[in-house]
Amino acid sequence: MDSRVPLYLEGQFVDSTSTRTLPNLNPVNQQKLADVPCASESEMARAVASAKAAFETWKEVPVPERARLMMRFLQLLKDNQDDIAETLSHETGKVFADAKGDVWRGIEVVEHACGIPSLMMGETVENVARDIDTSSYMQPLGVCAGITPFNFPAMIPLWMFPLAIACGNTFVLKPSEQDPLTPMKIARLFDEAGFPKGVLQVVHGDREQVDYLLNHPDIRAISFVGSAPVGQHIYKTGTANLKRVQCMTGAKNHMVVMPDADKRQVINNLVGASVGAAGQRCMAISVAVFVGSSIEWLDELKEELGKVTPGAWDDASAGYGPLISVRARERVIDLIGQGKKEGANCVLDGSDFRHSDFPDGNWVGPTMFSGVKPDMTIYKEEIFGPVLLAMQVDTIEEAVELINNNPFGNGTSLFTNSGGAARYFQHHIQVGQVGINVPIPVPLPFFSFTGWRNSFYGDQHAYGKQAVRFYTETKTVVSRWFHHGEEAQGPNMTIQMR
Ligand code: NAD
Repeated sequence: MDSRVPLYLEGQFVDSTSTRTLPNLNPVNQQKLADVPCASESEMARAVASAKAAFETWKEVPVPERARLMMRFLQLLKDNQDDIAETLSHETGKVFADAKGDVWRGIEVVEHACGIPSLMMGETVENVARDIDTSSYMQPLGVCAGITPFNFPAMIPLWMFPLAIACGNTFVLKPSEQDPLTPMKIARLFDEAGFPKGVLQVVHGDREQVDYLLNHPDIRAISFVGSAPVGQHIYKTGTANLKRVQCMTGAKNHMVVMPDADKRQVINNLVGASVGAAGQRCMAISVAVFVGSSIEWLDELKEELGKVTPGAWDDASAGYGPLISVRARERVIDLIGQGKKEGANCVLDGSDFRHSDFPDGNWVGPTMFSGVKPDMTIYKEEIFGPVLLAMQVDTIEEAVELINNNPFGNGTSLFTNSGGAARYFQHHIQVGQVGINVPIPVPLPFFSFTGWRNSFYGDQHAYGKQAVRFYTETKTVVSRWFHHGEEAQGPNMTIQMR
């Protein structure tokens, strides 16, 4: 396949007129899957104008009808999940089972969006004063935009536009230029579900297209998921332009291991959570913090990590696939080199891994460092590769202090059999998503995805009730109906005491 990825504009799948294209490459062999045209300025303008026009009628569609369309979309996603996952595997390199998980986690958000009539319920109090009632309503904002990363090309677009649209907004999605075929498959199913034209637009590109959206006066709210530096740029520019902005950004997630934990559980969970998806998950565990004597399990952990072999998407024995791009691989190899130079002990080195059938793939084998210190570059930077850092502390208090001093606060976990340790950890840790004997504690969509500190800029988080608040404006109505025959009083010149 070597075609141009269409735009989804004004309810049509159209070829962009743009001649600036970016290549969408298969990470296993560098074969071009498609050219990604960067939408021209006039196409960007059409996308926003079409979303703005569609908003006027879409916001008036009754909530149950919006939910019913969402249910049709949900069924189409479920019917086509394997097909979406296969495309996702091709363009991300994810092994098929993991690709299916990516799609499924997105489908769960659409299930949640189908409950929009209850999610949008406001509040009512009768008799706030004599004969006066107050009600609150949630009303849609207008045109919202979403900018998504490469690492979950099904799940993360589905974190955003289904809830925004179910709330009555219209949406412009700018997916990652590195894997846009998956979101386009999803957009085709959205179209097939019968939503009115213009409710969703999908445009492609990079910084130029994102900056266009950030500066367009008709965009009311922006949802972003991606790296922390880009998130900072988007948050600053978006809010300076008086938009509502939520940015879910980078991470450095620690798993704390107590000596009283179950050793097999610790090792199995650390292996899957650190190198699964080639470590390209924002909730991957990248640091294992061994408390006291649990450090004795390090050799066994290294042995188990060493057994994981990367491979192609349809190789059932492969633990994970290649990294997304040549550049991403080079960056990870460079950071591994830096770790060695700065004195960390590279006990398992995957830098030279090459797959015999796919020598051009962006491979990095499982890698582990011990003796890592907080001032080392490998600890300070988000590596986003299959690299696990091992650190040692004496007490749980020290572990908590280490984690709280790290600038990121996306996810963390504690493995223990002590309720007291668990209670101490979950109360004192300054991280928004905490797992107790659960390595990757991603909340299901009826909660929200609650990263903290440098892993999140904004106040309302992705999905769950918080996303409904993010994508709506609250209106309160205070009303008084005069009972038949009530006598009018004179003008009231003061604020009334109730
Ligand atoms: P990225 O920041 O490079 O790109 C994300 C999006 O921003 C893409 O659509 C891209 O086109 C756009 N973009 C890139 N550079 C830009 C710029 N200078 N100005 C404006 N827009 C720009 O991220 P990525 O490499 O695609 O994804 C990996 C990152 O995403 C990791 O840091 C990971 O931790 C993070 N992530 C976070 C979460 C979360 O929920 N916190 C979830 C998934 C991924």
